[in-house]
Amino acid sequence: MSVPDAGTPTLRPWIYSPMRHDPLSYLGDELRLLKEQNLYRRLRVLDDEQKAHTSFDGRSVVNLSSNNYLGLTTHPRLRQKALEAIQAFGVGSGSVRSIAGTMAIHLELERRLAEFKRVEAVVVFQSGFTANAGTVAAILTKEDVVISDELNHASIIDGCRLSRATVKVFPHKDVDAARAIIASLPATGRKLLITDGVFSMDGDLGPLPDLCTLAEETGCIMMVDDAHASGVFGTQGRGTVDHFGVHGRVDVQVGTLSKAIGALGGYVAGSRDLIEFLYHRARPFLFSTSHPPAVAAACIAALDVLSEEPDIMERLWENTRLFKAGLADLGFNTGISESPITPVIVGDGAMAMKLSDRLFEEGVFAQGIAYPTVARDRARVRTIVTATHTAGELRFALDRFGAVGKELGLV
Ligand SMILES: *Cc1c(COP(=O)(O)O)cnc(C)c1O
Repeated sequence: MSVPDAGTPTLRPWIYSPMRHDPLSYLGDELRLLKEQNLYRRLRVLDDEQKAHTSFDGRSVVNLSSNNYLGLTTHPRLRQKALEAIQAFGVGSGSVRSIAGTMAIHLELERRLAEFKRVEAVVVFQSGFTANAGTVAAILTKEDVVISDELNHASIIDGCRLSRATVKVFPHKDVDAARAIIASLPATGRKLLITDGVFSMDGDLGPLPDLCTLAEETGCIMMVDDAHASGVFGTQGRGTVDHFGVHGRVDVQVGTLSKAIGALGGYVAGSRDLIEFLYHRARPFLFSTSHPPAVAAACIAALDVLSEEPDIMERLWENTRLFKAGLADLGFNTGISESPITPVIVGDGAMAMKLSDRLFEEGVFAQGIAYPTVARDRARVRTIVTATHTAGELRFALDRFGAVGKELGLV
């Protein structure tokens, strides 16, 4: 099968291209600069299903780069329910939620998620990104202040900007620093204390119990973005709020349906008033079309799988332990991860890309990540194991990590 090269447009003479006057020529200059700095990225193309052993760019690889923690992207029960929903309800919802695009299956998914998260109500958004950005922007004004961990996700940062609230950033997981910031604020105006549940680049956990206490003592709204935690942490994958036993102490929980749940979407979980307010004020809810019914059906099936097939989560954690121990035995610096996300920190950006490229040639896909996504001296190859990797696949990947690591003088 021929693989399209997403980075190099082929010559297509029927496309009109600007000849004399190109007001976008500065974009080409920017791209040339990225290439000079070795920061230009070609998109890798998946030419099979998103699964543990698959094919990218025509090469068969062990896949350590997806967020498909439980293998649900290809689970037969999700496929079946999605197909049935297409047959019963078609492929699109035809409208935003607040006009004609609320289908019974959307409400069923929200009821199921509320039960799952042990909260009064849930609203589903098109993605985790829009859930975060839409919610922060809706619940705050420019009179308010956000107190935010320095490593929080981009969608939180964008939501803060859209809200026009003042943003105060605290050093990663430093609850005392957050406390000092709050103490220095004027008494008026609302305050939102916000953290990721699992941080996506290091795989470590936010200090939820201490942050909840701080929020309670200082009257802050407490918000947790649990995108990498649902389906991974807590009873039946209920997330970090369950893992830490802080039910009822987090006012706004955000989750995604795009990672462990295997489909697409994001959601906000909290009080009935919070959810009804978002129905009226969250701009992605009001101005962007709702999910196709097949997506909602697949997500409902995923919740069934989480409660009825607990062995999948057990396998995820078995694989996580096996792979982390293997990387540590090889002598790599794997940082402070507590989750199935394990970084292999090499420091220099060019070295991280080299390690990733050589691993790919050897049949292992693990994405290199450098500045500005992580600090300049903390470049890494990020690995994510899933429940569906076999022990043989993980041993193969470890063997290749060892060989390429030696070749590049890293271990
Ligand atoms: C992936 C991610 C999101 C965005 O979720 P999508 O459903 O992919 O839009 C939000 N927050 C965090 C921490 C994430 O890792």
